Order: sequence, then structure tokens, then C-alpha cells
Amino acid sequence: MKITLAANWKMNLQQIDIENFINELKHASSVDIILAAAFPYLTLINENDKFHAAAQNVHDAESGAFTGEVSVTMLSDLNINYCIIGHSERRQYFSENDDLIAKKAEILIGHNITPIICIGENLEERQSGETLDIVNRQLSSIFTNIEVQSTFIIAYEPVWAIGTGQTASPEQAQEVHQFIRDFLNKRYNSEKANSTSILYGGSMNESNAKALVEQNDINGGLIGSASLNATSFNAIIDSVKDK
Ligand code: PEP
Repeated sequence: MKITLAANWKMNLQQIDIENFINELKHASSVDIILAAAFPYLTLINENDKFHAAAQNVHDAESGAFTGEVSVTMLSDLNINYCIIGHSERRQYFSENDDLIAKKAEILIGHNITPIICIGENLEERQSGETLDIVNRQLSSIFTNIEVQSTFIIAYEPVWAIGTGQTASPEQAQEVHQFIRDFLNKRYNSEKANSTSILYGGSMNESNAKALVEQNDINGGLIGSASLNATSFNAIIDSVKDK
């Protein structure tokens, strides 16, 4: 499977930064690059046909009186093909839960936009040995109504590793990725499980990306801090492109 590297810029970078980033970004035929910019800048990314644009959020309704929100039909209108949902920051600051994330996944899929569905345990859950139970609960809620023919990406993002500089070890990450693939196998079938991209996210950088992506069930990364400048993102591309 092709490696996917998705940059999650969060509420960072402005027009000039993004233009410079895109000019400097390397292209490797073995790597799919997705750039998740803030809403105002998404079309800047689509001007370039080497990289894909992703939104960082979407509302779960098609339209309506929801001041400040952006709908799936708007993303579709602008030819945005990916959207991150379920990020731990949205769960934490905007109280998003798995039921809402399931609705967002379904509406995106219904409009042919690939959701990048984030799941993962927090520190307390990891320390009390509940990681796989939590991941199973999240997956079971989110994948209740999603049909086998749907296209989606899953990002395993242990919350304790996001923005902390503390990365899951390749073995810790692989254990959960394998569990996710087994879940997809049981929920759908082996073809679906083996063709779904499962990304790791949580302080991935140029020093640890290769070892993570070398694991059997890690198909790439969702990258925050180390995606904020093209030099470090290019170094990550270089380190994983020959997996
Ligand atoms: C993220 O926010 O999805 C993320 C993985 O951030 P960081 O790489 O900074 O941990």
C-alpha cells in the first residue's frame, strides 16, 4: 500500500507560509501527501495537483442555521477530497464524541470525501491497560453504519503523544494498528482490512518516522508540529519513501 503522510497544520500558517511550503515540498511517487490547512486556505492547496487538501473539520448537517460552521457540500463544492474528524483537540475543546464523529464520517462518505478518522486513548487509559478496550469502543461506535464499500482512513493518535514530544514506540503503535486491522477484518473482510490505510499520529518526526512506518500495519503518519515547516516535513518524506 502507498504510504500516506498527512500534515495537520491546525490553526497555524498563513497564506504566504503555505505558498512557500508548497513551493519547497518534495514530491515522491511512493508517498501520498495530504495537507490539512485551515478553511480559508484550502483552495490554495488544490491549486497544486501533486498534493491533496484536507479540511480539519466539518459539520454533520448538509446546511442550515449553524453560524460559524462549514458543511460537507461546501467542501465538496471546492473539490476538497479529505477531512480530518475526531481529532483529540476537537474531542477535548468542542466536546465531540464518537456518535457525532460517526455522523460526520457518514456524511463525508456520502459526498465522496474521505474521512481521516482519529481515535486513541489518553494517558490514564494507557496506564491502566485499557488502550485496546478504548480503541475497540471508539471503532465500534464510529463504524456502526459505515458500509464496506466506503473509503476512509483511520489515524491512531494516542492522546498522550500528541504535541508532547513523546512518541509511541514502534511496538506500542504496531500493537494498536494490528488491533485496528483485525477489527476491520471482523467488521468487514480481509480485503477491506488490508486495503485501508491506518496512520500513526503523535509526535512523529524525521527521527522516528522510518521506524514507525516500517511496522507491518503502519501505513503512514498524521503529523502536527513536524509538518509546520517544509524542511522537517521533507525529511520525513525522505525517511519513509522507500518502505
Ligand atoms: C496531531 O495533532 O494530529 C499530531 C499528531 O500532532 P503532533 O505531531 O504535534 O503530535
